[in-house]
Amino acid sequence: MKVLILPGDGIGPEIVAQARKVLEVLKNDGLDLELQEAPLGGAAYDQYGSPYPEFTQNLAREADAILLGAVGGPQYDTLDRPLRPERGLLAIRKDLGLFANLRPAILYPELANASTLKPEVVSGLDILIVRELTGDIYFGQPRGIRVNEAGEREGFNTMLYAESEIRRIGHVAFQAAQKRGKKLCSVDKANVLETTEFWKEIMTDMAKEYPDVELSHMLVDNAAMQLVKAPKQFDVVVTGNIFGDILSDEASMLTGSIGMLPSASLDVNNKGLYEPSHGSAPDIAGKDIANPLATILSVAMMLRYTFNNEAAAQRVENAVKKVLAQGLRTADIFEAGTTKVGCSAMGDAVVAAL
Ligand code: NAD
Repeated sequence: MKVLILPGDGIGPEIVAQARKVLEVLKNDGLDLELQEAPLGGAAYDQYGSPYPEFTQNLAREADAILLGAVGGPQYDTLDRPLRPERGLLAIRKDLGLFANLRPAILYPELANASTLKPEVVSGLDILIVRELTGDIYFGQPRGIRVNEAGEREGFNTMLYAESEIRRIGHVAFQAAQKRGKKLCSVDKANVLETTEFWKEIMTDMAKEYPDVELSHMLVDNAAMQLVKAPKQFDVVVTGNIFGDILSDEASMLTGSIGMLPSASLDVNNKGLYEPSHGSAPDIAGKDIANPLATILSVAMMLRYTFNNEAAAQRVENAVKKVLAQGLRTADIFEAGTTKVGCSAMGDAVVAAL
């Protein structure tokens, strides 16, 4: 199994180094892993003059899974847009056809105070948002700004989903639910938008293929409300690109600790790009204080979704739970009564717990 590691920029190299330690332990314990590294984003621009150079592209296409730190930094903000680090990220997602974005929002009981919501509402929260990433109103044609027949300027976009696009994200979501609590909530606005009425019809039809998963439907406005009112009612949520964009950010903030949240973007064969939900945090880069746990938990997602190795995924997640239970905290999740550690010490603690 080939894993390509893309450290990226800012805190990327520091946090990815900790995740790499975890991969090395799994390898030493018999997991058949081949690890390679390549630059992406600003680091790739510095070395090759492009944020997604051919060197990286070739290795990314050959890899079974990719682990990314994060890209971006203020020194690159004045570059022409096509050369900016974030373009490298968009380019690799498009190049590899990564249409399914999986973002878990998990609140470990030890971190319940980090949330802005009452501990009893969020403690033990464990939900997964599955967002379609390459369709919907973000990509639908026609789009633009024009002058209408009355001579007034207007902006317009097209919300559009083909049946095949709905089915392929549906399969990812139903199968993710099978690996978890077997509950899937499909979020739509079927009372107003035909595109999502169609979405609902296809999801309902697909449920026949997954009799072990309990499918429900919810309107997006209600879903936004329920996520803050009673988020623990959800197991897996599946939705389109625009609703998923908003709901996944809302869900991640329920936990209050951005340094803890992994994510996955998958293609049709479950090849995946795994990365923390946060950015490159240039403000704390190079200080050995970043939280590496989101990146380490991204490794667990890789084991679960690309390598189908649930036991190894849980081994990594249990190691993270163990260090939290031991009271170890990086600065971003530190509170009185716990022990503050740096980025590499946190990585070492996870390795010890493994
Ligand atoms: P950010 O997520 O990098 O940082 C937001 C805040 O959270 C900062 O105060 C930062 O110090 C803190 N933070 C983030 N990750 C942390 C961690 N692991 N441990 C401790 N604290 C952490 O978002 P931003 O400041 O808006 O963006 C910074 C750069 O990252 C920009 O160049 C942006 O374009 C880029 N970015 C990249 C990605 C990605 O690579 N997927 C995603 C978002 C932003």
